[in-house]
Amino acid sequence: MKIVSTALLLSLLVMPLTAQVLRPTPALPPDNRLKADILLVVAHPDDETGVSAYLAKLLDQHKRVEVVYLTHGEAGHNNMGPERGISLGAVRETEVRHALATLGIDNVWFLDGRDTPSQNVLQSLANWNNGQALEEVVRMVRLTRPEVIITWLPGFFIGENHGDHQASGVLSTEAFDIAGDPAIFPAQLAAATKVNETWLEGLQPWQPKKIYYFSDAENQDQFKDSGPTYITTEISPTRNLPYWRLAMDSFSFHMTQYRGYIEGLSKKKPEEQKSEWGDPVGLIFGKSLVGGSRTGDVFEGVTPAPIPFARALPSGEEPDHASLELAGPWGFYDVFRREHGLTQLPKAAVPEIAINHGQILQIPLLVRNNSAAPQTITLSVTAPQAWTVQDFTSTFSLAAGESSPVLVQVTTPDADTNADVKCRAESSHQTIGEVELHVKLRSGGLPQ
Ligand SMILES: [Zn+2]
Repeated sequence: MKIVSTALLLSLLVMPLTAQVLRPTPALPPDNRLKADILLVVAHPDDETGVSAYLAKLLDQHKRVEVVYLTHGEAGHNNMGPERGISLGAVRETEVRHALATLGIDNVWFLDGRDTPSQNVLQSLANWNNGQALEEVVRMVRLTRPEVIITWLPGFFIGENHGDHQASGVLSTEAFDIAGDPAIFPAQLAAATKVNETWLEGLQPWQPKKIYYFSDAENQDQFKDSGPTYITTEISPTRNLPYWRLAMDSFSFHMTQYRGYIEGLSKKKPEEQKSEWGDPVGLIFGKSLVGGSRTGDVFEGVTPAPIPFARALPSGEEPDHASLELAGPWGFYDVFRREHGLTQLPKAAVPEIAINHGQILQIPLLVRNNSAAPQTITLSVTAPQAWTVQDFTSTFSLAAGESSPVLVQVTTPDADTNADVKCRAESSHQTIGEVELHVKLRSGGLPQ
């Protein structure tokens, strides 16, 4: 009797213990407070202004909008105080947090990029430690799991054409294409199982469904029908103000950058304010993995269910390279657009740049000898009379299959003017390639 009762007692003690050991520990789902419908990825505090009226409209539609800044915007002047450099960046972070909170956006992140004033996207990427910045953007995509990414247009256009803007568009496009890949940045995806595994991040791969761009190019007509357009004159039902006005009020926090303009704006009549702020918000369609039309609504085709990772397919073949091509950022964008399946993205009909008059224009070229025999190449440059082409090695030999970079430098006149600079390569008196660069000279603007 005693033996039986001991066995019974043991089994009673052991059973619940055994059941407890076998029960799997349920993993916590991703933190839903971070889930975004739209993730805006831009370079500087104030960059949100180009789309903020549209973001206000999305918030009225109960969309979750979050924003990532690649830098703190610490370069440039300060109209409010002596703080500059890193300290100015801290001020600008505060300004934009207020600006976004006014719209109703609270989830805002700042990455480690440094504000890099130039028009060269490659310079910004280099200064941001390209791969590190990409890993950070991929992390933000996996953390916020956006349905749609909106970012700056990766391309070279006359306008502000900030290299940092372009770089945020480049990195966002790359992140769109790889954040869903379980083989990329695996430490982000590894689940920590021990208390001291503090470097593993426990994220999940995430494939966004669509990516759209916006641009600060001077000529916005070239983007007509490239994507949806949203009017900003409708009245917000929750705020009882037009969306352009919400955008304008949000902008008023950027005092370190625009104090004089903002103070003047507040004294203007509503009609004047509307004429400055009431333009529609135009987006440029990048790509969609859920169908929908180019100019259709951003959420056309988007349903709540996650979609599987889609490996980006290059669009078009490796080009049969012309023997003379523009290199530098222009050459990079040709490769970028092809490799990310974005050859339909708008680009300038003729490659273009605006620089300060009197500056030295740099034209990076790449000469290729695709033929099976050595070639003697002769390069010539045609520019208007007042433009001085500096001496460069214009005749050289290339072995079969060899290529060579050439930098052409042109001293520009001290006047606001436009011109086309043409470069031609010849071999055995035959033209083997020509490139043209449309150049606008003006005062101010970013260095090349
Ligand atoms: Zn900016």
